[in-house]
Amino acid sequence: MSARDRETAEALVRLAASLDGAVLGLGTAAVAVASWVKYLAVSGQLRLVASAATASIGDARSLLRGDGNEPRIAAVRGYVRTQGSFLRAPFSSEAGVVVKHTQMCLFTEWRGIFGWTFDLHALLFRSWKEQIVTSFRAVPFVLASTELGNSTGVVHINVDEVDYQPLPLTTVFHKLIPLETTPYTLFQTIIGNGYPIALLDEEKILPIGKKITAIGLCRAKNAESVEITSCPEIPFFLSELTKDEMQAQLASRARILFWGSIVLGTLSVCLVGHAIYRGWKRIKLRREARQAQQMFEDAEDAIREDNSSDDDDDDVGDGQLCVVCLRKRRKAAFIPCGHLVCCCKCALRMEREVEPLCPMCRQDIRYMIRIYDS
Ligand SMILES: [Zn+2]
Ligand SMILES: [Zn+2]
Repeated sequence: MSARDRETAEALVRLAASLDGAVLGLGTAAVAVASWVKYLAVSGQLRLVASAATASIGDARSLLRGDGNEPRIAAVRGYVRTQGSFLRAPFSSEAGVVVKHTQMCLFTEWRGIFGWTFDLHALLFRSWKEQIVTSFRAVPFVLASTELGNSTGVVHINVDEVDYQPLPLTTVFHKLIPLETTPYTLFQTIIGNGYPIALLDEEKILPIGKKITAIGLCRAKNAESVEITSCPEIPFFLSELTKDEMQAQLASRARILFWGSIVLGTLSVCLVGHAIYRGWKRIKLRREARQAQQMFEDAEDAIREDNSSDDDDDDVGDGQLCVVCLRKRRKAAFIPCGHLVCCCKCALRMEREVEPLCPMCRQDIRYMIRIYDS
């Protein structure tokens, strides 16, 4: 951890602990709520996956209800087969039905001359460092019950509407292209937002013959066959996982989110409760101090009246003289340190300072009391 990171971490800890941890408590509560919302979403997805109808490819028409135009969530498992046309990946010349080409920029840890810009950059442009899809091509394909040869019936897969669901692609080619130093990379070095060193070129395909599960909305395509399109509410569409494995994955995610939000929620209640208790205690102390101050000021008038007797006190021993004015008898004790070192007048003056400190021990003076020795 660098000095810069440590400073940032310390500032964050200070912020979190401010207001007696109320900030941390509210932050934790926000995370707990967010994870609860996520839990609800994931358990909804789990219910959808669990409710998906299953059938063998040969029997896919049984998945349809009525005239088959009303979509129904279903899952089928089979082998990827082409319908005549397929794609060839340009670099590896492998055959597939989906070909995707991505590029990823690799950066050094260089921070530039102004180290802070890196932090800002990492915060704002993180996604920029992620993969960029430079090309995506797909041809219509089907799932069949056997890898080769005759199969009874097929299920058409429509990948046009795949949005965010990952596809079960296989990487068939990758190449690291070193970047030449250009005036632009020099500029990046100077302003400090990471120094790009290479591009990682990757080619991924969905190969013919791969066994996958398709889960989504099932409709009739024509008299004999059915078609599956992706369902936006389900995080899967095409996957190497079976339906049971998808369910297990979602169930474990839901469990983690559930317990995570319970633990974080409890923690945030404790933190906010603690902060409220501390705040209330401080208000109580302040009120007590104000009352004591009032009493002291009331007593001041009385003091003024017997001031003359104080002044006349010639027989006050050195050990009993006010340490500030060295003239009058010590009569005011400071709370909480308990030092009885000042006369009432000096004590009042001292307490009205911006930061009242005991002249003996330099502790904070919260309030003071008048001492009567007779
Ligand atoms: Zn004095
Ligand atoms: Zn003191």
